[in-house]
Order: sequence, then structure tokens, then C-alpha cells
Amino acid sequence: EALAFWRWAAGYYHHPVGDALLGAMPVLLRRGAAESGLLQRLWRLTPQGCSADPAVLARAPRQAAVWRVLREAPEGWTREDLIEQCGDCAAALRALLARGWLERAPLVAVEAGAARAAAADALALNPDQQAAVDEVGASFGRFEVFLLDGVTGSGKTEVYLRLIGQALERAAQVLFLVPEIGLTPQLIRRLQRRLGMPFGVLHSGLSDGERARTWLQARDGVLPLVVGTRSAVFVPLPRLGLILVDEEHDLSFKQQEGFRYHARDLAVWRGRQRGCPVVLGSATPALETLHNAAMGRYRVLRLPHRAGAAQPPQLDLIDIRSQPLRAGLSAVLQRLVQVELTAGNQVLLFLNRRGFAPVVTCHDCGWISACPHCDARLTLHQGSQRLWCHHCGHQRPAPVQCPDCGRRDLRALGQGTERLETELGALYPGVPLARIDRDSTRRKGELDRLVTAARSGEYRILLGTQMLAKGHHFPDLTLVGILDLDQGLFGADYRAPERMAQILIQVAGRAGRADKVGRVLLQTRHPEHPLLLTLIRQGYGAFAAAALRERQQAGLPPFAAQALLRAEAVQPEPPAEFLRRAVEAAAPWCSPDLALWGPVPAPMERRAGRYRAHLLAQAAGRPALQTFLEHWVPEIHRLPGARGVRWSLDVDPQELL
Ligand code: ADP
Ligand code: ZN
Ligand code: ZN
Repeated sequence: EALAFWRWAAGYYHHPVGDALLGAMPVLLRRGAAESGLLQRLWRLTPQGCSADPAVLARAPRQAAVWRVLREAPEGWTREDLIEQCGDCAAALRALLARGWLERAPLVAVEAGAARAAAADALALNPDQQAAVDEVGASFGRFEVFLLDGVTGSGKTEVYLRLIGQALERAAQVLFLVPEIGLTPQLIRRLQRRLGMPFGVLHSGLSDGERARTWLQARDGVLPLVVGTRSAVFVPLPRLGLILVDEEHDLSFKQQEGFRYHARDLAVWRGRQRGCPVVLGSATPALETLHNAAMGRYRVLRLPHRAGAAQPPQLDLIDIRSQPLRAGLSAVLQRLVQVELTAGNQVLLFLNRRGFAPVVTCHDCGWISACPHCDARLTLHQGSQRLWCHHCGHQRPAPVQCPDCGRRDLRALGQGTERLETELGALYPGVPLARIDRDSTRRKGELDRLVTAARSGEYRILLGTQMLAKGHHFPDLTLVGILDLDQGLFGADYRAPERMAQILIQVAGRAGRADKVGRVLLQTRHPEHPLLLTLIRQGYGAFAAAALRERQQAGLPPFAAQALLRAEAVQPEPPAEFLRRAVEAAAPWCSPDLALWGPVPAPMERRAGRYRAHLLAQAAGRPALQTFLEHWVPEIHRLPGARGVRWSLDVDPQELL
């Protein structure tokens, strides 16, 4: 079954089947490591350990912690699970083993553990949640796709937890796909608390051994649940009975290099193959998904209200045309931030640009900090005193004098989170501020530490990029200020407005999640923009409907299907020449239903020292596109020049970059 699935996926994306297959497998298994050495066992208490008197451990708090955790879990926990819950407990495990309180046990299959799918600290579902659980629950054992369209904070995770519990009662395995940024220690802890049994976690940060072990245990039907980022969609699960995709709109489900698959779309196909329900959850569903729902292919389950007592936040625009800004904030926003801080609340400021300033220029001669390898500017990072290219990674020390004219009047233009951090420190002196972006969270565990401290109220101002947008729950947060999203209104990519709206709603969703009412202010230079107004006044649903109408009029996906052929080389001519030949090769199969656009230079023509060009194939629908690709792709492989360029095909491209 797994093999059939992988072959289908390789075929759909027209990717070499061997590469797709090997990519779906953990490195160690690919290299032929022995399975027996990888399979891991559980730690559990012996009968002696169960009846022991914990008072003996009064002076050994780690051992006591391990004992308490194992006391609640008769089947036991893996070593990783114990470390997650008790900290570094290697020595404690050895000591408990020496006491004869502890033993190794093999992992047990799903049935044995199922009864414990605990209701511990389960919330009483509200009627919308209950209806969603009932509808999906009634479809166990057959294929059906559900769109769980629930506003931020509506309790989607609670619905997933109930469904996982129901699946486990039927001894079925569950595949739970989450975006990269959604796989947080908080989520893992919540699942551990509620399930009370071992489950598998798959993400890019695992060691090869951990990954292989989880994969094998899933394949053996031993793990009841696998939670993972996009590549987890390929894990073999012999008893698969339910697939959940959280934040289904998230771009991280699309692999952007090598085997360019979309895990959400593959999850739907896998549910069809397996005959099990698939739940796609989001507060801001992708336009494709909404279109599928409108066509009757997916059933919609709505959670229109926030769970518990929380109210939806109020959204407003601030026109910043010709307004003076301080630390990126207009006067209105500065005042409102001050009000919330005085009231002891928390404020989140969002800017999707890291670093200090996006460009450095010489005030005398006009030199700018351009990347030598890309059509892009170098970003100044003040902390490290370096100029960095965010596209190819090139970096160099920040100059103190102009490389062209030698004078010293260099100026950093524009704003990144690093600069805002400094300026906000001056504007709100003494107010504890946490900056959360890729730079400030590079160290392992740092994001978890910052978020936990922010939740507990240690920081009053949270400043960050997209990293702050998803999943986090800050009870004291009452005001969200979005400093700049305007580039999303006019991006080169026709999906730019959709992404802008998703970020806006997700960030806005951080405000007022507990008993305090939230407010969201969006600074813009385009307060009259129709899509923006629809979004602010009528919400994401109305925005999506309007955006879908525009797509339909323009004949763009989801009302058409696309594939993007990319080519790049050190010289500018070979990619264009290769793509021109690809156009010629397509001629016999072109039809009124199929159009080729290009070749054109990529929006960023030069990147990492290579010239890049594109050719877009667009068909009326997926079947027409697939038929065309079946003929065309073998021809591309045979083209003269195919070896002189790097080329790749992206079926259903998410970014036309
Ligand atoms: P979402 O995943 O939709 O953003 P969560 O499942 O994280 O929402 O729930 C948001 C908050 O609401 C959480 O603090 C959760 O504990 C709480 N919550 C969820 N369901 C209920 C419920 N039925 N009653 C009370 N509180 C709830
Ligand atoms: Zn100069
Ligand atoms: Zn570069």
C-alpha cells in the first residue's frame, strides 16, 4: 500500500520514482541499517516499583519525577518521552534500574493502549465542536474530506484530540500533519498529557536513529499516532484510520526543492486510497481548499466562535500616508501601545522583516549594498555587524566606509525587527521586550523558552516575524499592531494577497484569546484597497470569495492547473535557450485547453550566482495538465541542452519564484 502511494505521488509530480521512494525513507534504512538495532523499547515500573514507597526518593527528585510519570503509565514511556517530561534523566533511570524498580518492555500494539485514550483534562465541547466531532466520527471507515473551518481560538485542536481518541478506541492509527512552525513543544506536551501513551513525532530536527525508529514502529502498527511535518505523509501506517492536517493553508506543506510535493494534497489522496476520513483544519483555508468545498468535494464543518469565553478581536486600519513614524509606529499606535502597557497588558508588534535594515547606502555617492550573486540587497545585521543576503546566504562584514568612494556617511535604510527592537527600547524604556524571529531563536530550545516566558507575562512587548503568527496562546495579549503588510497587496505573485490575508488573520488571532478583549491595528498606505477593506470589514470568508472571483475572471488556479518548468545556469543564455526548445517540443500536444507562457526571466533573475528562467504551462484542469505532462516531460529529458542547465518541474507550484 505504501509503495503504491509513493509511486502514485512520483507519477503525479512527474518526479523520478527512485528519488521519490528513497526520499520517503529514513536515511538509515536507505543505507540498509539493520532494523533490529533500531527498534527501541519502553521503560516501565516493575511490580516492585509500582508498590514502592516514593518517600525513599525524597532526596532524589529526578528519580521521584520519573517514578511519578511512570506510575501513571502502566505501558511505560520511551527514553525520549521521559526526557521530554522529566528533563535529563539518564542517571535517574540507571538508579531506578539498580533498585529493581524499573524494567525494559517491548512496545505494545495499538489495541492494548487504546482504552487509555484518556479524557484527562478534556474540556466539555461546545455544540459546534461536538457537531464536528460527530460528523467526522460517523465517517470512520470510509473516505471523506472535511474542511474544519474554525476561527483562531475556536478549539480546533480540541476537536483533533477527541477524534484521535475515537480513532484509538477503534485501534486505528492516526496521521497528524502540522506545519513546521506548529510542531511546538507545547503541542507535544498537550498530546502527551491527553493521550497518556507513546506516539511518534517526525520533523527535520530528529537524529537519523530517532527518525528510523519512529518510522519502523509506525510501519509495525505499534505507534497509535504519528505527528509530523510534511514528510510524515509518506510514513507507512498499516492501520491508518484518520488523517488530520492542521493549518492546511500553510506553505510549509509544499516541498520547494527536489521532489516538489504538497503534503496536504497527498494526504487527501492517501485518505482516498486507504478509505478513511481526512480533516483539513484552518482559520484561513487556502483558496484551493475553499474552491473544493464549494464544488461539493469537501464537507465543511464550521467553528464560527471562539471556544470558551473569548471574544473575537476588533480589526481596524491606520492610514499612515504622510504620518511621521517612530520605531515604525504611527502616533495613534504609539498611544494605544502605551495605554495597554499602563493597564498591565501585553502588546504584539508584527513586522515580517528580520535584520536591522534591508539595505545600506552611501549618502555621498549612492552606493548600495547589493549581493554579488543575486538580484537582491544585502541586509544589515547590527548585532553581528554583518551584511547578509537572505536569498543565497552570502555575508560579509558591514563596511565602515563606502566601498566605492571611501567616505564614511553610510546609512541604513528601512526597518527590520532588530532595528525596531532598539528603537522600541528607547520609546518604551524599561519595558521588557522579546524579539522573536529566525535570528533570535537560532539556538535550540530558545523559541520554546521565549514563548513560555512570554506566556507567563515576563515580557510586555513581543516583537516578531511570522514565527509569532501561529498557534501561540498569550493570555494577557490585548493589542496586535501590524506595522507593514503592504507589499502583500502588490506582490509579483498572484497569490500574494491570499498570503497577506492569511498572515493578517493569523497574527490578529493572537489578540484577546482569554478573558481580555483584543484589538488589532493594521498600518497601511493603501487604506482604500478593495480586498483589504473586504478583509477588515467582512472577514476572511468574504475576502476569499472576492479573491476567488478575481481568480476565476483571470482564469488562474484553482480555476486552472499549472506546472512551472524552471531552468538555471551560470550564463544567462542556456536557460532561455533550453526553455525555448521545451516550447517547441510541446507543440504537438498543445491544444486550446493548454497554454504555455514564456520563457521569461524569473522575478529574481540572478540568484546564488545563477541566471534563472521560467516557462509556465497552464491547462483548463488537472486531468488536461496531466495528459500533457505525460507526453511532454519525457521530451524535456531528451532535449539537447538538458544537461547544460539545472532544470526542474513544479506541478501545482505555490510560488512563481
Ligand atoms: P484553535 O486550535 O482553534 O486555535 P485551541 O484548540 O488551541 O484553538 O483552543 C483555544 C483555547 O480555547 C485553548 O485555550 C483551549 O483550551 C480553549 N478551549 C477549546 N475548546 C474549549 C471548550 N469547549 N471550552 C472551553 N475552552 C475551550
Ligand atoms: Zn560612496
Ligand atoms: Zn545573494
